[in-house]
Amino acid sequence: MKLSKMHLKTLREVPNEAEIPSHILMMRTGMIRRLASGVYGFMPLGWRSIRKVENIVREEMDAAGGQEILMSAVQPAELWQDSGRWYAYGPELWRVKDRHGRDFCLGPTAEEIFTDIVRTDVTSHRQLPMNLYQIQTKYRDEARPRFGLMRSREFIMKDSYSFDKDYEGLDKSYQEMYDAYTKIFTRCGLTFRPVEADTGAIGGSNSHEFTAFSEVGESEIAFCEHCDMAATVERAECVDAPASDAEMLALEEVHTPETKTIEEVAAFLGVEKSQTMKALLFVTYDEEQKENGYVAAFIRGDRELNMIKLVNALDIPEHSIEFADEEKMGASCGCVGGFTGPIGLHDCKIVVDSELVGQKNLVAGANKTDYHIKNVNYGRDFEGDIVVDIKNLLEGDPCPVCGAPVKHTRGIEVGQVFKLGTKYSESMGATYKDENQQDQLIVMGCYGIGITRTVAAVIEQHHDENGIIWPMSVAPYHVIITVMKPDDEVQAEVAEKIYADLQKAGAEVLLDDRKERPGVKFKDADLLGIPIRITVGRGAADGIVEYKMRRDADKVELGVEEAITKAITTVNEEK
Ligand code: ATP
Ligand code: MG
Repeated sequence: MKLSKMHLKTLREVPNEAEIPSHILMMRTGMIRRLASGVYGFMPLGWRSIRKVENIVREEMDAAGGQEILMSAVQPAELWQDSGRWYAYGPELWRVKDRHGRDFCLGPTAEEIFTDIVRTDVTSHRQLPMNLYQIQTKYRDEARPRFGLMRSREFIMKDSYSFDKDYEGLDKSYQEMYDAYTKIFTRCGLTFRPVEADTGAIGGSNSHEFTAFSEVGESEIAFCEHCDMAATVERAECVDAPASDAEMLALEEVHTPETKTIEEVAAFLGVEKSQTMKALLFVTYDEEQKENGYVAAFIRGDRELNMIKLVNALDIPEHSIEFADEEKMGASCGCVGGFTGPIGLHDCKIVVDSELVGQKNLVAGANKTDYHIKNVNYGRDFEGDIVVDIKNLLEGDPCPVCGAPVKHTRGIEVGQVFKLGTKYSESMGATYKDENQQDQLIVMGCYGIGITRTVAAVIEQHHDENGIIWPMSVAPYHVIITVMKPDDEVQAEVAEKIYADLQKAGAEVLLDDRKERPGVKFKDADLLGIPIRITVGRGAADGIVEYKMRRDADKVELGVEEAITKAITTVNEEK
């Protein structure tokens, strides 16, 4: 492609909303074009890199036995009602009506569609296992679309679904996809790690997120340097502090004026925060968005509540719970803002962190303004409707596997794999006949890759202050030929020859033949991040050009043929 002919609009200034390098660089290089909040179009360079990632994904999916299909992005509500997710998916589901008032959604994922395919098409055990996938635009009406392609409302996702006869088959399919994902992200040039993850609105039992390390990532990962443990903080299990064998002391109400926070109470009474418990109060909603109950969650005063664990314990969708209005909740349940404790609380669901069961003589709110109670003990003084781990694994806490202090890091979730089991085949009635002609539920897995988010993640990991530094595998072009003076006949001729020879050898080449100053061209070449730059300048008359890799600082002078051979070899090795 000749740059003089290409639709390329690079920007010197970026809009304020672009905060992170990948978003800024995609805007500056004109890869993407914003149409609305979280909705982007892809311009020539952007689209080329996206297709590179798609092709890597496609090759590895095909190699792993996947069959590509393409379903519509428009999905009928009935299928989502069948699975029970029309409500459960919440406000992220982009709902639309047709002219007859029929409900549809723009698919955020496609478990229902693919389950529907097998429930009608698969009858016999002989048809299993099967793995179907598509690369399709997805829609999620995200609460906070941001960071360009990182969290958009319209994005491209590869979604695969595996169908097996039994759980043993699912384990095998899951492992195959896990291995394929490892190959894909390696080929894309990412530094990443698969980590244990929560299953969220997709459901199922087991899951891993593939997380590309990055400070701007929205996934927080807890990991251990002494063993293999790595999990999202949402998912990571906590080790409860050892149970205390202290004697239970008598309850004692104490006057604690103006001590609404744990810090204030602990300081006022001269105890550690870990000797207190705190209450977090919530209201839940039903399918019509009507309030349908209150929840009080109790954890040790020095801990942090994990909302995902709480939502999982309650077995409700994430969007159907909110912090309660303390006064309103107080009128029905007897709690008092800032002084809520478990004793005497009524008409609400009480969720107790498992750790509190073994702790002794804690300080808790007295459900009375300006009062706390000392020596509160689980079992003797209060009980929970649900007792389970609902706290965050914090940095420095013991690793749930080996006990060493845990570390935290941030990353970008580029893909996720799920063992769904029979969640969808059960709700939607997808069965097959086994060898004995008995009906059995199909056992499913599902596997997603954010294609557009992966491109953003690659840029996050591969850039410097001058621009993108594409890995060859996903670069929009392999080589850029920069002609210093396009009007110079010799320079133009040498550049054209290199351009033609490289293309003949299968390389993807940009020829910067624009009538711009060399400084501008070099700046643009660095900004665009094309892996190999060949500069044709004064030396052209003697058959000499300059050869430089975008990722290296040094450049070398080479004969024209030598430069061509070197470029072809490098492209073939790295593409
Ligand atoms: P997140 O936790 O970031 O919201 P998710 O866990 O809801 O993502 P999945 O349902 O696992 O996402 O979707 C599969 C993949 O699709 C994700 O791993 C991610 O790469 C991509 N993806 C999900 N949401 C978005 C989005 N809003 N914008 C771009 N890519 C996305
Ligand atoms: Mg996910």
